[in-house]
Amino acid sequence: MIEQGYDVYIKKLDECLNNYIPPRDTWTPVDEALYKPKDLYRIPLKEAEELQFKSIKFAFNHHYTNNKFYQGFCKENNVFPDDIKTSGDLAKIPIIPDGFFKDYPRGKEFATWLGNIYTGDLPEIVIKHSAPTYDQVIDAFNDAGLIVSYSSGTSGRHTFVPRDQRTFFLSEYAIAKSVVSMIYPLWDHNMSGYLLMPNPNKTNIYAGKVCSVYFDAIRDVSVAIDREITTELIKLTMGGRRGLKSKMVRFFSKRTSQKMIDDIIKWLERHEKTKENIVFVGAPFILYFVMEKLKKQGRSFDFGGRGAVGTGGGWKIHENIRLSVADFRKEVKDVLGIPEKHCLDVYGMVEGNGWMVQCPEGHYLHVPYSYYKPIVLDDEFEQVGYGESGRFAFLDSAALSYPGFITTGDKVKLLEHCPVCDRPGPVLEPEVKRVVGTEMRGCAEEMRTMMTGDIGR
Ligand SMILES: [Zn+2]
Repeated sequence: MIEQGYDVYIKKLDECLNNYIPPRDTWTPVDEALYKPKDLYRIPLKEAEELQFKSIKFAFNHHYTNNKFYQGFCKENNVFPDDIKTSGDLAKIPIIPDGFFKDYPRGKEFATWLGNIYTGDLPEIVIKHSAPTYDQVIDAFNDAGLIVSYSSGTSGRHTFVPRDQRTFFLSEYAIAKSVVSMIYPLWDHNMSGYLLMPNPNKTNIYAGKVCSVYFDAIRDVSVAIDREITTELIKLTMGGRRGLKSKMVRFFSKRTSQKMIDDIIKWLERHEKTKENIVFVGAPFILYFVMEKLKKQGRSFDFGGRGAVGTGGGWKIHENIRLSVADFRKEVKDVLGIPEKHCLDVYGMVEGNGWMVQCPEGHYLHVPYSYYKPIVLDDEFEQVGYGESGRFAFLDSAALSYPGFITTGDKVKLLEHCPVCDRPGPVLEPEVKRVVGTEMRGCAEEMRTMMTGDIGR
């Protein structure tokens, strides 16, 4: 049972995010599945399955009808909208391999490639340059009202995804509602937040971009990384090029990184004296370096139950060192005094609009299953059952501007029910890893490489 208090709590969030919710009379089954449930992780199973079936069927029809590339892919696989009659038929929906989103040409052809992934009619895109860079193509799309964003591997090969405004709102609303419901009753519009990501207005990295909703959910947000971050900058810092320009970028990063950490410590000192709630959201490695510095100085804080930490984007700290999610939580408790139940990891990706958030009780990753269906595949790309490890894939109905039926390079184990808490619906085990042979990827990973000219040393 959800108590009265929660209903009031989530209604307040909807008021803050009013601009993200389309008018009721324009709602599709996708909007029904995302905006209507008060808690995406506590929908009775049968009701959720119905919402899931209707929303995914709607999305499948939509992409089949309005996306020539996807329609061709379905015909090749001999699957048609009429084949999807019951929940059981969802497994037939053709899933696009994740490599597809990385296999793109350059220059003006890149613009055509993006246009082909896009479902529906593109607005007019004006590209001023004859041989545009990736950033210039993305800017041209975004000037026309779209939100093209990306993540990438350490090789600098990006995954580009075009969203329209409606899809972007669905995704932003989903992440805010998902996190706010899990940290109940801590969220409050008047709390203070720190974004451990680039300023959403100065980057097209999705993990940063999607955080623009943070500024509407919370009144007062400070930003860790306030410089512009482009694909060109990422290429310089991550690639094998050891030119002068590259070295200068690294040097600049190191200096600004030190300042970033000192600014966060000053912010902590300031908020220690108040009584208001605080929340960190973003890349774990930034907070890790903050805590390392505090430990070296023999200092700690005691925010207790009024503090929270939401992390996402990858767990590599140094080149070959992976921080365990559990160790990080323990350190947050020891150094900042924030209880482990308020330290939650979020698993999501640029290709999807479903956000798996850890439950405070057991730190399993809960799936928002009213609009998003998780799938696990074996090495032959056949679906496996609950309890078996394999490659993560999903059917995401909230992707309206591109077909959101995609495999990932992540290795997961899907369980039918959380072993710890009483929320219905499936969960992923907390440690998501890359499938062997797939490169490291993740937005935090990308930024870590950029920012650390090894600030931790
Ligand atoms: Zn749970």
